[in-house]
Amino acid sequence: MDKEKALKRIAHKITGCPLCKKGCTGKAVPGEGDPNARIVFIGEAPGSEEAKTGRPFVGRSGKFLRQMIKEAGLDENKVFITSPVHYLPLRGTPSKEAIIHGRAHLFEQLSVVDPEIVVLLGKTACLAVLDAKVDITRAHGSTVKKEGRTYCITFHPSYAMRFPEGKKQFISDFKKLKRMFKSPSP
Ligand code: URA
Repeated sequence: MDKEKALKRIAHKITGCPLCKKGCTGKAVPGEGDPNARIVFIGEAPGSEEAKTGRPFVGRSGKFLRQMIKEAGLDENKVFITSPVHYLPLRGTPSKEAIIHGRAHLFEQLSVVDPEIVVLLGKTACLAVLDAKVDITRAHGSTVKKEGRTYCITFHPSYAMRFPEGKKQFISDFKKLKRMFKSPSP
């Protein structure tokens, strides 16, 4: 099956998944982007703008993320953007159960896209993908290599927007990402 079809199938599964919807509201936000992306960005869970539109990272923090992606020299149409939780959690922060359940869909997306680089935006993304509680203020800017893939740890853009120091470090992490992406084997 081609990648585009496989991703559509996963999106369809997410949209109809009763477990994904539990404790959540709004439209499903399955993720979007280039099926052949070399780089995937992973957030936390949709916010209210995303839940209205069904598209990831289109609210305030999403606009900031997309601007950073452009400034890193990447085309936002050539990356893939997703999250472990695909619906807006009613309580704001997703539960551990929602993350554990939702990451199964995320892993399927990763195995279809098969990127070289995965950018983990914040602690929920780290918990979902690396299965580890990560202190982002210490670990940001570092990379983890696993099964031929490079995982880059940084802040969630909404944190970076809230804290000037976080923003500075987020920008510097993206500069690193730009250099890494340009080198032949990240
Ligand atoms: N935060 C996320 O983690 N994902 C979105 O799509 C929007 C905000």
